[in-house]
Amino acid sequence: MIRVRIAPSPTGFLHVGTARTALYNFLFARNKKGKFVLRIEDTDIERSSDEMVDVIVESLKWMGLYWDEGPYFQSERREIYREHADKLLQAGLVYPCYCTKEEIEERRRRVIEKKRAWKYDRRCLFLTQKEKEQFERERAKALRFKVEKSSSFEDLLHGRIERSKEDIEDFVIVKSDGMATYNFACVADDHLMKITHVIRGEDHISNTHKQILLYEAFGWTPPEFVHLPLILGPDRAKLSKRHSAVSVLEYRDRGFLPEAFVNFLALLGWSPGGDREIISFDEMIELFSLERVGKRGAVFDIKKLEWMNGEYIKATSDRELLQRLLPFIENKPVTKEKGQEYILRVIGLLKERLFLLSQFWELGSYFFILPEQYDIDGFAKYVRKGKAEIKEERIGEVMKSFKNLKKFDSETVEGCVRNIAECMSIKPALIIHPIRFALTGKTVGPGLFELMEILGKDECIRRLEYFVENIIPQYRTQINANMLKLLSY
Ligand code: GLU
Repeated sequence: MIRVRIAPSPTGFLHVGTARTALYNFLFARNKKGKFVLRIEDTDIERSSDEMVDVIVESLKWMGLYWDEGPYFQSERREIYREHADKLLQAGLVYPCYCTKEEIEERRRRVIEKKRAWKYDRRCLFLTQKEKEQFERERAKALRFKVEKSSSFEDLLHGRIERSKEDIEDFVIVKSDGMATYNFACVADDHLMKITHVIRGEDHISNTHKQILLYEAFGWTPPEFVHLPLILGPDRAKLSKRHSAVSVLEYRDRGFLPEAFVNFLALLGWSPGGDREIISFDEMIELFSLERVGKRGAVFDIKKLEWMNGEYIKATSDRELLQRLLPFIENKPVTKEKGQEYILRVIGLLKERLFLLSQFWELGSYFFILPEQYDIDGFAKYVRKGKAEIKEERIGEVMKSFKNLKKFDSETVEGCVRNIAECMSIKPALIIHPIRFALTGKTVGPGLFELMEILGKDECIRRLEYFVENIIPQYRTQINANMLKLLSY
């Protein structure tokens, strides 16, 4: 049975790179009807926190990556590591090291100054019996693995990867505080948890070499290894905060749908074949294979993610979208007063234009409150192009006609506006743009007549009046001379 794991360290939030690794492990496990294990690698007690464990768990759940086993916590497995370290100590494969951080740092600095590469100089391997006894009394000790062989393994993606023993230092397996290091705990756990495939980032290759030596020391068969290429920024450097958000929950909070985020991540290094881009979770599980994972780093293109999110939003039912939107509008009390049916109608109209859930309020706050601002500069562009103009008497005419309407559905309103334009012998656009501007404060948006139907007759008239009484005079005095010219009739 295939068994894979994701083993995040709770020293920070769930990074996009780890999220993709988790996804590939998950898809591989589901595709092979295997098990997906969650292991929290919290051996670095100082830097790990419960809060980050919660963030990691929440991130995985948000993405729909539910684990079959775990979470296991390495901090609760100290005894297991100690027993295993003892075995290696007894077999003479590891040795105690009493060097302090400062001493090592000092020696390292001196070697680097001479432009030579540093690796642990085996000072503690050659201590005299007397020195050893003295250190034993005075100092805490770590355990170091004595590297005597080169390392070589077959990576399922990259083929054979080798490293000569000269390039691997005697690495620490148990720190002076008694806690196992990542490399040691990882090998013990992967073995004891019967992990068959270790799928992780390429940045772990040098760790894998050390881990291979540990597998050999224990006489254990190592799992298969797959080192995924890194996720890159547009400049082809490793993706970092400098390029874009790297915390999974930040994408949630920005209004990405988990389905879109997962779809996007899946394609950062894997391809189902052909040029399909929108793939459902179930299809991903069905089609996923390690053979179709690329060797080259994939570039994280935020524009593509936004496009994909827009596609997923369009494909989501209005009712479902309402549920997803609620966290983004809950803090706007008016949305509660208006009720869900009203919001649903707004969703129906704005859906096509929505790339992020968080944009909903920005795009459509005017459905709930008076326009928060009027995009006077944008409107001025229309005026300059001769596509619109504001004449109070025209707005007055429009209001009068609206007041007389018995029905206020989009067709009736449209008929009424076109009729006014015809009577005045002007293009309908010369009325349509100013009405949109007066009602919404914006120059673009969904179909004007549809949005008017949703706002309703009374609200439309109220806003037109408000516009004439408050906004036009305000801009007359506030805006620059150019606009004054445009608005003063
Ligand atoms: N704790 C390691 C990390 O977060 C796990 C690496 C591995 O998968 O072995 O990078």
